[in-house]
Amino acid sequence: MKDTHKHKGLRNQLANIINAKGITDENVLVALRKIPRHLFMDSSFEAHAYQDKPFPIAAEQTISQPYTVAFQTQVLKIKKGDKVLEIGTGSGYQTAVLLEMKAEVYSIERQKELFKKTSLFLPKLGYRPKKLIFGDGYKGLPKTAPFDKIIVTAGAPYVPKPLLSQLKVGGMLLIPVGEDTQVMTLFIRKSPKEFEKHELGDFKFVPMLEEKN
Ligand code: SAH
Repeated sequence: MKDTHKHKGLRNQLANIINAKGITDENVLVALRKIPRHLFMDSSFEAHAYQDKPFPIAAEQTISQPYTVAFQTQVLKIKKGDKVLEIGTGSGYQTAVLLEMKAEVYSIERQKELFKKTSLFLPKLGYRPKKLIFGDGYKGLPKTAPFDKIIVTAGAPYVPKPLLSQLKVGGMLLIPVGEDTQVMTLFIRKSPKEFEKHELGDFKFVPMLEEKN
């Protein structure tokens, strides 16, 4: 596991590109400059790590595009001590970004292979989520709720009710909704029964899959 000056230089360039695309949250940019994204993918694909695009990882899944990770993190205004639930741990890259922002992170992954791999990998880089869970994101994490922020990193065919109900009042759920392409959708819980909804543009994610039986 090597991180060199060359990698750091490439990361700075990537952060500048993402800044030019409209990401201005300085903490997000600092995290992008710091996290060795090349180590989150297979070493033979290192050359792709610092381009602003998604890339295949294990189990037919992808590491999200850096811009998308930055966008979701910026929208959620992650701050120190936020209790955050992530659906779709995948490579753990988004998890690492949340941890760099000093959030308390719980993350669910339904692919066993990825769950195992990422559970071993993140601590090697010094990243310590509160908990990584092997399970079904549609259910959220009722025992640990409520959360300040919930971030879904797979394309959901509909908005799972449990995720809305696991938000604190004032909390935010950010979820890409749709089958083929997804509309990035933000829900803000205004009161126990009221949610404000904002649509924030089209994105493309791998599908959020229903529980395996
Ligand atoms: N945050 C990840 C993105 C990975 S892609 C990263 O930065 O690399 C989306 C991930 O969601 C995949 O790993 C996929 O296996 C997972 N996923 C899909 N459906 C899920 C579900 N129902 N519950 C939990 N995770 C799910």
